Amino acid sequence: MLHSVITEHIAKVRQQVEQACHKFGRNPSEVKVLAVSKTQPAEAIRVAAATGQQAFGENYLQEALQKQQELADLPELEWHFIGAVQSNKTREIAENFAWLHTLARQKIAQRLNDQRPAKLPKLKVLIQVNISNEASKAGILPSEVLGFAKQLLELPRLEVCGLMCIPKVSEDFTQQRQAFAQLADLQAQLMQALPELNLTTLSMGMSGDLEAAIAEGSTLVRIGTAIFGAREPKV
Ligand SMILES: *Cc1c(COP(=O)(O)O)cnc(C)c1O
Repeated sequence: MLHSVITEHIAKVRQQVEQACHKFGRNPSEVKVLAVSKTQPAEAIRVAAATGQQAFGENYLQEALQKQQELADLPELEWHFIGAVQSNKTREIAENFAWLHTLARQKIAQRLNDQRPAKLPKLKVLIQVNISNEASKAGILPSEVLGFAKQLLELPRLEVCGLMCIPKVSEDFTQQRQAFAQLADLQAQLMQALPELNLTTLSMGMSGDLEAAIAEGSTLVRIGTAIFGAREPKV
């Protein structure tokens, strides 16, 4: 995609975020945009970075590591892993990312904790919740989140920062809001039960539902298509 188009799209997304914040009484400084760059070349990230965008989300480990190398001259970039995590990938995630949005298994959490290099700050993690209770979706069920979060208290190299969800796709604004409201409720319950954790991050909202997510308290919207355009199907 043309440089000028990415730059324009980013400005448009920021404007959309601001408008949604005004509409729903949120402070725009509380809502951060994560640019989801999966399947996009390093050059596209470089263009986005030139606009001041620093946080980038990647789903596929080898692809992400390759791009990190190509962009090593931009140390200010903050890398978020937002894809599925397999056990044999935890070391490279622990060594190369600032954030993980998709934590849902104790065994993976333990490995990430053990493999996080001492020279790096704690790995910031979000618990992925299967909020729409879909059999096909990753994430843990809402009823299991408290128990899981308690287990994470034992892992000193992880910083549990909040919750993430990918709700069932819906075009309906009210339905979109319902799923996000459930995640926000769960966050409120968790904050009360575990005040020792700083669970202020709600990673929710993508290109198609960012306004609904902001209406319900999102602090981190994950935007791919609206910034970089449609993705080629992954082969
Ligand atoms: C791809 C992806 C996104 C971005 O989706 P868009 O609809 O392109 O904005 C957000 N979150 C996750 C977890 C993704 O895999």
